[in-house]
This record gives sequence, structure tokens and C-alpha cells, in this order.
Amino acid sequence: MKASSKEGGRRAGWLAILLIGLLGCADETPNSDAEAAAVPTKVYEWKIITTWPKFLPGAGMSAENLADRLRMMSDGRLDIRVYGAGELVGAFEVFDSVSAGTAEMGHGAAYYWRGKMPIAPLFSAIPFGMTAQEMNAWLRYGGGLELWRELYAPFDVVPFAAGNTGVQMAGWFNEEIKALEDLAGLKMRIPGLGGEVLERSGGVPVTIPGGEVFTALQTGVIDATEWVGPYNDLALGLYSAGRYYYYPGWHEPGTVLELIVNREAYEALPADLQAMVATAAQAINDDTLADYTARSVAALDTLEREHGVLLRPLPAGVIEKLREASLQVVAEAASEDELSQRIYDSYTGFMQGVRRYTDLTEKAYLEAR
Ligand code: CA
Repeated sequence: MKASSKEGGRRAGWLAILLIGLLGCADETPNSDAEAAAVPTKVYEWKIITTWPKFLPGAGMSAENLADRLRMMSDGRLDIRVYGAGELVGAFEVFDSVSAGTAEMGHGAAYYWRGKMPIAPLFSAIPFGMTAQEMNAWLRYGGGLELWRELYAPFDVVPFAAGNTGVQMAGWFNEEIKALEDLAGLKMRIPGLGGEVLERSGGVPVTIPGGEVFTALQTGVIDATEWVGPYNDLALGLYSAGRYYYYPGWHEPGTVLELIVNREAYEALPADLQAMVATAAQAINDDTLADYTARSVAALDTLEREHGVLLRPLPAGVIEKLREASLQVVAEAASEDELSQRIYDSYTGFMQGVRRYTDLTEKAYLEAR
């Protein structure tokens, strides 16, 4: 009995503390009109357009996750509707549409805007360029993001890193590649700078949209194709069109996906929502890489075990030629103008330093493991 009355006394004590606490809180709640008006309630109904098919695993889900997180973080004040490629505008019209304010946001990859800015691929991926980890370091702490913002500024577009595929695969081939000669006349779907490199190495690059890749390879319109890696390639069914799956993805060693925001719309946001956009983009940047890495493991297993896919490394001689051609192709993109040269110098300067560090850490460890 003694113990229970002691217990009861303790409870009463806690109750008193709780009540005092609640009353204290009540005193602090806004009670004047001016204070009530200070609580932000304006809802921003935005659109995000993407270069990806709706709900494409990995890249396509990045924008969905970004919109979900922003809605949650802002308690519904930033309400963003996601559009897949072709739903509102075509995949390759995303940049211009965000620039014009047709949509407030876009999700894609910088190398798609190469026709407008030849140096743009340096902000997504370039052949024999930096890995995901190295790109994040350059963009955030090596001056890369500032240069990226400068490049897009004339178009009133503000870029953020928002996703990474990690190292991609070299692609699907109908025939084995045993030596450099096997690239001669090889018709391969490979866009961007990688395509130019293939051309200088004897191949014939073909640019076709992702949705048509499977049929083109199956019907022999092309002999080979790259897409992303096991996770996305399994989803596209590429294993039934090409038997040999080559690695590594020399042309896309850690492709950065981008979030682009219309400048006027971005600047009209209150500071807390701007901070949420930047934070959500960074979260998605990290999450997409984890998603690609984890899901590719399972997808690769399915490709090999269920579909009999044959994995092959590109021969050293082929890699050597591709690397040599890549250095020329990328350097040529730098000669466009003064800003392009500065971007190129920053990228290559950073890569030179980080590469040595990567060799001593990641690479040395991976070889030791
Ligand atoms: Ca690719």
C-alpha cells in the first residue's frame, strides 16, 4: 500500500509538471492577428517535367521521390506534380520548358543539352571521367556547382545534382568484341560524347530514344546498344535482343542526374522552401545511387541465371583506343568559349588530384579486398 501511494504521489507530480508545461505552451501560441499571419500557409502548386518514361526504375523514380519528400517536408506548401517524358513536353524539351517557365522544375541529365552548350556533358558524365563519389566532391567542394550555375544562368535555370547511376555498363552486343577491328562499322546506339568517341574508333554511333532501343537491336537496325546498367536494362528487356553484356561503362562512369528549377520561380520561394529544395535534391542524389547499386545486384543475378546473359570485359586494346579518342573529344568541347575552357580546366584539374587520392584509397582497397 505504501508503495502504491508513493506511486500515486509520483504520478500527481508528473501530472502537475505536464499541466504547467501545457499551460506554458498555451501562453506561447500566437494570440494576435499579426502573429497568426506570420505562419506561412501559401501553397505553391508546381510541375516537374522529366526526360524519363513515367515510373522508370531509378532515374524516373527520382522525381517522384523528390516531389514526395518536398510535400512532406513543407507540410504540403510545396505541392509538385510529376510528368514523365512526353506527358507535358518531350524528353529533349525539358530544359527549354523550364527556362521558359512552362514548368517550374525539370529532372534529367546535363548531357542532353549538349546541342545548346557543348560543355554541358561535364556536369553529367564524360567518357573516362570522374566517378559518382568524385563528381559529388567536385560539384560540392571543388567549385563545380558554381560553374554549373554560371553555365545555366543565361537561360534562367538553376541546377542541382539530384541522382547518380554509378558506373554504367558498356552495353549489349550481338557479336563478341575481341579486338579493336571488331568496332569497325559497328552500329551502336550510344548518345553524346561517347558516340563521337566510338566514331573516332571506327564505329557508327546511332541516336535513338530509349523506347525504340529494344526493337532496333532485335531487328538488326543496330548491332549494339548501351542503356544504363542491370537495373534499367532488365526492365527494358535488352537481354533478349543482345547476348553479350560488356563492361565497364567507360562512356558513363558515374552519371549525375539533375534537378533544374526556373530562376524566377525559385527566387519567389521563401527561404525555408528554397532550403528544402536544396536538401531534398541532395537526399535524392544520394538515394538514387543507393537504389541503382542495390537493385542492380539482384537484376544482374536475374540476367545471368534466368536469361543466360554472357558477361564480357572490353579488351584492353579497345579500352586504350577509346580512352585516347575520349581525351581529344572532351578537350574539343572546351574550346567553344571562355566559360567552357574554365569548366574544362576546373574539371580536369580536380580530376587529376582526386584520381591520385582514389588510387590510394578506393582503388587500392578494391584490389586488396
Ligand atoms: Ca547510358
